[in-house]
Amino acid sequence: MKYVGAHVSAAGGVGNAPLNAAEIGARAFALFTRNQRQWAAKPLADEEIAAFKSNCREHGFSPAQILAHDSYLINLGHPEAEPLEKSRAAFLDEMRRCQALGITLLNFHPGSHLRLISEEACLERIAESIRIALAETQGVTAVIENTAGQGSNLGFRFEQIASIIEQVDVRDRVGVCLDTAHTFASGYDLRTPEAYAETMALFDRIVGFRYLRGVHLNDSKAGFGSRVDRHAPIGKGLIGLETFRLIMNDRRFDGIPLILETPESERWAEEIRLLYGFLPGT
Ligand SMILES: [Zn+2]
Ligand SMILES: [Zn+2]
Repeated sequence: MKYVGAHVSAAGGVGNAPLNAAEIGARAFALFTRNQRQWAAKPLADEEIAAFKSNCREHGFSPAQILAHDSYLINLGHPEAEPLEKSRAAFLDEMRRCQALGITLLNFHPGSHLRLISEEACLERIAESIRIALAETQGVTAVIENTAGQGSNLGFRFEQIASIIEQVDVRDRVGVCLDTAHTFASGYDLRTPEAYAETMALFDRIVGFRYLRGVHLNDSKAGFGSRVDRHAPIGKGLIGLETFRLIMNDRRFDGIPLILETPESERWAEEIRLLYGFLPGT
C-alpha cells in the first residue's frame, strides 16, 4: 500500500491539516505543528488536539500516514552552547506536541556545523540532542531527513546519517526520511533504472531500509551533485518522471508517508493522481 500525500497547511489550527489533505485526495500528509519560522509557540489547546484526532479518524489517516516536520530554526548540532540549548528545548517541545497529537513520526534536518566545529563533533552533538529528546518522550520516532548539503548542513552523505543512528541508543525510535531532490542534489543519481538501483542499494548498505520511515517526493530544479536545495514539481525538474514511477512500484516504499513538498500547491491533487496512476492496474 502506497500512502501518497503532501505537506499541507495547518493554518488556523492543526485540525485543518487532515481536512486540507483529504481535499486533494491525499492518503498521507505532513504538517508543522507550530509556526516553523518562530521560536515561541503557544501550547496546543485541548480542543485543537481533539479536532486533529477526530478529523484524522474521519478521513482515514492513521499515524503511519502522518509525518510532522520540525521548525527550520532548530539546529541540533549547533556549535555554540546557548543556541544548542534553545534548539534542544524547541525540539523537545516539537516531540511533545507530536506525542499529544498521537503523531508517531517527527521529521527534522540533522543540523549544521556553521564551519565552527568538525563534521564529527557536529554529528556527535546531533546524536546527543536526539538521545535527550527520546529520553523525555514516548512513542515518537525522530526521523532524520537527508539533506542537499547546502551551506554547512550535514546529512548529505548516507554515512553521516548512519553515524548519527549508531550513536543513538534507542534504535527503534530513530528513523530516516529520504528526500528525492536532496538525494539527487547531494550527488546520488536517480535518473535511470540502473542509477536508481545503485543509489537505493547504497542506502540499504550504509543506512538500511529498516530505518526508512518516510519519503519526500520532489523533483529538483538544482543540478546533480550541486548541493543546492531547490524543489521542482514532479516531472518538471532534472530528476524526471520515470524515477517516480520506479518509487511507486518499489515495495520498499510501502506503508510509509510519501510526501510532496513540490512548489505550486495547486498542482498537488494532480500530482497525487499522476503518482497513483503509476501503479499497475490503475
Ligand atoms: Zn525537510
Ligand atoms: Zn524534504
